[in-house]
Amino acid sequence: MLEILQGFGFPVNPHIRTGLTLAGVLQAYKDLEALRESLAYEIDGMVIKVDDLGLQQILGEKIKSPRWAIAYKFSAREETTTIKDIIVQVGRTGVLTPVALLEPVNVGGVMVSRATLHNEDEIKRKDIRIGDKALVVRAGDVIPKIVRVFPDRRDGTEKPFAMPEYCPVCLSKIERLKLDRSYMNKCVNASCQAQLKERIRHFVSKKAFDIEGLGRKIVDQLVDEGMIRSFADVFKLEAEKLAELERMAEKSAGNLTQAIEASKKISLARLIYSLGIQHAGENAGKLLSRQFSSLDEVMAASAADLEGIHGIGPETASAVHGFFANAENQTMIRQLLEAGIEIQNDRPRSSETPESPFYQKRVVLTGTLASMARNEAQALLEASGAAVTSSVSAKTDFLIAGADAGSKLDKAKKAGVRILDEAEFLAMVRQA
Ligand SMILES: [Zn+2]
Repeated sequence: MLEILQGFGFPVNPHIRTGLTLAGVLQAYKDLEALRESLAYEIDGMVIKVDDLGLQQILGEKIKSPRWAIAYKFSAREETTTIKDIIVQVGRTGVLTPVALLEPVNVGGVMVSRATLHNEDEIKRKDIRIGDKALVVRAGDVIPKIVRVFPDRRDGTEKPFAMPEYCPVCLSKIERLKLDRSYMNKCVNASCQAQLKERIRHFVSKKAFDIEGLGRKIVDQLVDEGMIRSFADVFKLEAEKLAELERMAEKSAGNLTQAIEASKKISLARLIYSLGIQHAGENAGKLLSRQFSSLDEVMAASAADLEGIHGIGPETASAVHGFFANAENQTMIRQLLEAGIEIQNDRPRSSETPESPFYQKRVVLTGTLASMARNEAQALLEASGAAVTSSVSAKTDFLIAGADAGSKLDKAKKAGVRILDEAEFLAMVRQA
């Protein structure tokens, strides 16, 4: 394929190697690492792929990545610099994160001047002090971090860091909450401006409402000026008022209000992501939007319904359920709809056939089918507009049971789910 593409005149990376044994792969890694500095672009490793398309099909995919490709990273680049100060950032959920301000240093071609310190425990464990000489790494596009400090290079002026007792932004008392085996420090004031700023930034970001022109500084200004107090306020911004802001020209104010207007049409998946629900990222948004046909349905789903969706874990299910069960969040959603948000459902897809008995039904496959592989059956069902899930619940419409069906069949019988054998399934698929 690469040769054909090259023949068509497409640029193809000359460093790609094929047909290698495992020893050859390791050699390719060494060769590429030696080439790294001489390349005109930055690389942080290589990708090893099974290049047989048939094998790729058999290996299949995990939720976020294929099983037939894996990244092999080069060792991280590191440099030594000085920690000038340690400040505290307040995140979207109110969690306080200490950040080291560094004497700017060039780490593998990128100037680094801050490094996250994750939490107070990490600072204590690594005995990191303000003024210390520290070893900084930058692996891939990951945020730089401090590996260790050098206590033997201290001159006595270094100061230990203490987590503030009050939020640096809203001055509320900080709560110390236990999380797994470590502690986190949290500003629990729901109207803390720092949290609001982070939530709004996430809300308008590329994978959410994608409002161009509503960058970091403008969000800061709008929240500081009291023009944005909630998500819905974003859609109430007027060009005249925006133009009065510092550094905002009339023209860009006009562009911004246009971008805001255009963003009002949003897919259900993006909308869910934009709300910044804990544990519910981009992928959860997509999974939920495939399973439910409207926001109302998502909001009405029980934690068990949500957990029944393939790919949604118990933490995400309970966070999503808790979020929508909260009265303030329900008000927030209502305000968004009143502000003119239009949720465009990702379903039904154009190829779907409403005549199919599986259209908009929840289907679970179990056991072995004689006539086709499980993924083929799933593709057929999805093409007819079904949502194929992995576990049986009271909301399941059909269970298709092949040979050697196990516990799912028992569960479906108990739940009164309609059970189809392979012949019935094939007959119904053909019907559509
Ligand atoms: Zn605060």
